[in-house]
Amino acid sequence: MLDVCLLGTAGMMPLPYRWLTSLMTRYNGSSLLIDCGEGTQIAMKEKGWSAKPIDTICFTHYHADHISGLPGLLLTMGNAERTEPLTMVGPKGLERVVNALRTIAPELPFEVRYVELTQPIEHLIQQGYHITAFRVNHNITCYGYTIEIPRAGQFQVEKAKDLGIPVNCWNKLQKGESLVLEGKTYTPDMVLGAPRKGIKLTYCTDTRPVTAITENAKNADLLIIEGMYAEKEKAAKAKQYKHMTFYEAAEIARDAEVSDMWLTHFSPSLVRAEEYMNEVRSIFSAAKLGKDGKTIELDFQ
Ligand SMILES: [Zn+2]
Ligand SMILES: [Zn+2]
Repeated sequence: MLDVCLLGTAGMMPLPYRWLTSLMTRYNGSSLLIDCGEGTQIAMKEKGWSAKPIDTICFTHYHADHISGLPGLLLTMGNAERTEPLTMVGPKGLERVVNALRTIAPELPFEVRYVELTQPIEHLIQQGYHITAFRVNHNITCYGYTIEIPRAGQFQVEKAKDLGIPVNCWNKLQKGESLVLEGKTYTPDMVLGAPRKGIKLTYCTDTRPVTAITENAKNADLLIIEGMYAEKEKAAKAKQYKHMTFYEAAEIARDAEVSDMWLTHFSPSLVRAEEYMNEVRSIFSAAKLGKDGKTIELDFQ
C-alpha cells in the first residue's frame, strides 16, 4: 500500500489557505517527498505526518516555490535525531543549489547524498520505490516523476513442491530472494507467476504539455498535474510562462488513460476553481481539484 498526500496546491507563493505544491508518500516505513517550497514542513505538521522518515527528496526544478522550504525541513529532521542518510534527486546543479541553501543549515546528524539528473529520462530505486524522472518543458530544466511499487507474480505452490523446496524456505523466494539448498540455487522466477500490476503514481508540475508526460503517466493509478490557469483568457499566459491550463492537463490525463487525476499548482489569482470543473470533466471525467492535505491510499488490485 502506498499512502499519498498532496501537502499543498499553490503555485508561485503560499497563501494563508493554500500551501505550496508538494507531494509526500509513505511506503513500507520509508517516506518520499517531491518538492519542498516555503511552508512545506508546516503543511506536513498539519497533516500529522513526520519528516523524520523521509529517505528521499525529489525536486522538479529550482524555482523558489519548489525548494525554498528545504533548509528548515533539514533542520527539523536533524532535531529529530535522524542519522540515516538522505538522498536528494534533481536536475543538474542539485548539489550546488542545496549547498547554497545549507549555509543556514550546515550541521546535520545525517549524510546527504545527491543524484543529479542529466538524461531526458532516468530510473532509480530507493527503498522499494521505483522512480522514473522525465524531463518536461518549463523555462528552466524541470522533471516530472513517476513512482511505482512493482508487484511480483503469484507464488506457484505446485512448482515449489515439484522442485522439492521445503515449505519453510518459500518465504525467501516469495520476497524475491534467491535460495541455495544443498549446493543448488533456486531463483524467484522458478516459483513465481508473471508480475502482477503494481501501483503507479505520476507527479508533474511547471511545464507545457509534452508527450513525455503522457508516456510516463500511461495507465497510472493517479496523476497529480499542474493546472496553473483555469480562465480561458489565460491560455496565452500559460504558453508564455511555460505552464498549463486546466484543460491542457485534462487532455494529458485523458490521453494517458490514468484512473484518477488531481489538479494542483494553482495561480495565486485563481479563485472559485470549482466553476471551471464541468468543462474540465467533459475532457476527462475523473478530473478532480487538488486540495491541501488531500490523501489517498493506493493499493494493489
Ligand atoms: Zn512553480
Ligand atoms: Zn517553476
